[in-house]
Amino acid sequence: MLEGRPLIMNLIASRITTHPLLPRLPEIGRVFQRDELTPEALADIAPHVDVLVGASNLKVPKAELDLYPNLRIVADFGVGYDGFDVEEIARRNLLCAHTPDVLSEDVADLAVGLMLSITRRLPQADAFVRAGRWPKENFPLGRRIARRRIGVAGLGRIGRVVAQRAEAFRMEVGYTSQHPKDVPWRRFEDVKSLAAWADVLVVVIPATPETHHLINAEVLDALGPEGYLVNIARGALVDTAALIRALEEKRIAGAALDVFEHEPEVEAEFRKLENVVLAPHIGSATVETRCAMADLVCENIRLGLAGKPLLTPVPGTRRA
Ligand code: NAP
Repeated sequence: MLEGRPLIMNLIASRITTHPLLPRLPEIGRVFQRDELTPEALADIAPHVDVLVGASNLKVPKAELDLYPNLRIVADFGVGYDGFDVEEIARRNLLCAHTPDVLSEDVADLAVGLMLSITRRLPQADAFVRAGRWPKENFPLGRRIARRRIGVAGLGRIGRVVAQRAEAFRMEVGYTSQHPKDVPWRRFEDVKSLAAWADVLVVVIPATPETHHLINAEVLDALGPEGYLVNIARGALVDTAALIRALEEKRIAGAALDVFEHEPEVEAEFRKLENVVLAPHIGSATVETRCAMADLVCENIRLGLAGKPLLTPVPGTRRA
């Protein structure tokens, strides 16, 4: 707190001028952009910081938390918190909020869009028309998704919406989850058996030490030469080297990826492959959803500063 106003340290880069959260934060407190501070300015301000704002593609490790001895709230502009040291946040008894649910429909829509893009080769079709090839050549046939099998690895908030959308395409739905769900769809014990059954495997499981490289060579071979992988979760879920090999050797039919292990860097091999569709982590990137996420971040910070229970605390951290 400085001059009676809460002090907010924002880790989201100031160059992202279209970010809907940035103009909202000054309504709550005095905002400092972490990427614009000199080390001397940071040292001056850090002891007064009340709120740290990050995003699910950013890291909030212990070393960052160590900078702010009077921190009260950590806010994540996103649902995934794999970059945040949640154990340390909980140990320090800090509040920590994220933005579940408000983004589920958009992320599920992107999964469907990616599934159609890879099976119907939409990026290639667009390039084919632009290049003036249509009058002289035939565009190769794609594969249908109607009445085929979708395996949803992770039937959580987003996975359920993916499954509902897939039903509208008359797809048969199978899934994995940690705990059985009261749903009409077939549950598989593990992702390998789900992959063996599915035509399209959609990954929507959080990145944790346990789920690191869950989609490995064995799972990709189970998916097989007719199967497609869609990853809208995190790059860390997939063994990238194994995926590149499987795509190069056509041991799977294709992959559509919104997330990458070393994003925003993308392995050069992916750019050369015909049987992939690539997106720059845009699952929740619509005006409507990003504004709803900004609203939820601001509401959580306001509640936390007022000593009231958070709307959406990160699991494992306190609500008030
Ligand atoms: P969620 O509601 O927590 O769902 C996660 C699902 O994964 C649940 O079905 C859970 O099973 C399952 N799961 C968790 N740990 C597992 C494990 N160790 N092994 C197998 N299954 C496991 O999360 P959500 O809101 O749907 O979000 C899922 C993830 O999507 C986020 O964590 C984030 O990384 C990613 N995401 C990406 C974008 C994007 O822009 N591409 C946007 C938003 C989110 P139970 O339900 O049985 O616990």
